[in-house]
Amino acid sequence: MDTLQVQQAYWWTTTGQTFLQAQVATTATDDPDVEITVSWRTADGTTGSFPLYRFEDSGEYQYHYALPQPVPNRPVQLTATSSLGGVSRAITPTLWPNASPPPLPAGYQKDFIDAYLTPVDIQARIKRLARQYRDLVDVIDLPNKTQGYRRNAVGYLGDPAVAALVVESVRFGDQNMNGVQVRTVDPGRTNRPLTVGYRDRVLTVSLATDTAGKTVSTTDEVAAAINARQPDRFRATVEDGSAGLPMPVAGPTRLDDGLQGTEVPARPWTVQALRLGVHRDGSRVGVLAYSQEHAREWATPLVTLEFAERMLANARTDPATRELLEQVDIFVIPMVNPDGANYSFNDFNFQRKNLVNHCTRAARDPKNRTSWGVDINRNYTVGSYFDGYVGASANCLSGTYAGTAELSEAESGNVIALAQDHPNIKFAMNVHSYGGYFMWPPGAYRADGRVTLPRPSIDESTLFLNSARRIVGAIAQERGTVTWPSQTGPVADVLYSAAGNSADQLYYELGIFAWDFEVGNDRWNPATNQWEGVGFQPPFDEAHGESQEYAGGLVEMVRVARDHAAAEAAAG
Ligand SMILES: [Zn+2]
Repeated sequence: MDTLQVQQAYWWTTTGQTFLQAQVATTATDDPDVEITVSWRTADGTTGSFPLYRFEDSGEYQYHYALPQPVPNRPVQLTATSSLGGVSRAITPTLWPNASPPPLPAGYQKDFIDAYLTPVDIQARIKRLARQYRDLVDVIDLPNKTQGYRRNAVGYLGDPAVAALVVESVRFGDQNMNGVQVRTVDPGRTNRPLTVGYRDRVLTVSLATDTAGKTVSTTDEVAAAINARQPDRFRATVEDGSAGLPMPVAGPTRLDDGLQGTEVPARPWTVQALRLGVHRDGSRVGVLAYSQEHAREWATPLVTLEFAERMLANARTDPATRELLEQVDIFVIPMVNPDGANYSFNDFNFQRKNLVNHCTRAARDPKNRTSWGVDINRNYTVGSYFDGYVGASANCLSGTYAGTAELSEAESGNVIALAQDHPNIKFAMNVHSYGGYFMWPPGAYRADGRVTLPRPSIDESTLFLNSARRIVGAIAQERGTVTWPSQTGPVADVLYSAAGNSADQLYYELGIFAWDFEVGNDRWNPATNQWEGVGFQPPFDEAHGESQEYAGGLVEMVRVARDHAAAEAAAG
């Protein structure tokens, strides 16, 4: 018989429906067939049960759990039983999150978000906030300019279905290389060598001929000749499957960067942070909120910008907000990854990474154009792929490509530079979407033995959890969205290992209490009795709702920081 331990048993009521969620561990960790059932009883005597599911991660048993289950009213008793005969102690489920922020005062101003915002829109809004609230705002230009919304101009020379080269410009397309032409020609004479010439924006490769005047150059020879003769202008690779084939007479092909956005400036981008507060001199505890490391997560800058504007607008009318800005120094980076965001809005809405293409050889084939880039939130230095941690990739085409080295990217360097330059920052929130998670370190483990980064101390774990409950309560204040207890906890426990993520670096290297939101909680559908995911770019109404509720969560994080600073000051 196995022994069962109820690790979590929480209930809550939202929009008239009560939910129960439980997490139970069995000592029969290696038995994949053990079934665990939870039985519950409510205050009015109704009973029921539901099955739990075994959760394994990295090949190791973690616990059994189920999605939140609807129950008719407040559950007062819960027992777990196992197919091996184990029976848990009877538990009284506890209320989740059981923390409420102060009610919003009359006249509290909110709802500053009317539409999804592109990087150009965000830049304009930062400028407007700085102008409108001059006494409370600094705009900080972060030190590393990004590549910009730019790509090399590229084209196929030949027919990829038969034999072709991929020819690209060494400079970006906007640097006078879009529209440059490339061709191969038959010299029309016998015994000619392979030659390469560039004139009037046309790259001409004259193919070698034999004694009969037939062209004899191969794809590999032509690629090598272009690379040898025009290394400053062009890079040629043999298209996958075309190696060793005769190079056809082809072109002219016009090279193009393929970028569709017409309103985006084609130059390196300066990522900006807003600094909000009455005393922006490092004398007050600092809080950092940053969003859109991942380009496609369009709702995330709406959250941080709504938060920033709430603090500023209400500072003039609400004494409690004014007091927060007296006590706390707030930093906001609404958009860490502008180039990827521009690409997501204009070219490929599912873009996650930045626009820097570190691929070599065949992986540079433009058929891979939507897979290039570095995952900014895998490019940091703590618990990184390069240190052997799980959840990032060395493959330049992977969605979680870690880059060429730790902090190889401008975008990740900017986040760390801001935190390093302002050592008063003690709390941080990395805003992602979607799924409704609230997480903290450790965020990564090694595959061998699933050894996580060191666990926070008991005191720090308590601070993480108690603060999380306050912030989850504040999120719920807006429209009743309750982040599940099963999705509140260390990243490595509730989601997956994310090697080289930013929150781990802020926590382990800089001593910042660093959380991650995944905004966009699943919605309960009472018609189907199922939870439904909302996606990265939900209809704007949903994104708007996320911006409002999670901005409330960030305001609560400011209160957490204020209270923490006050407690530390009182302790001397
Ligand atoms: Zn993300």
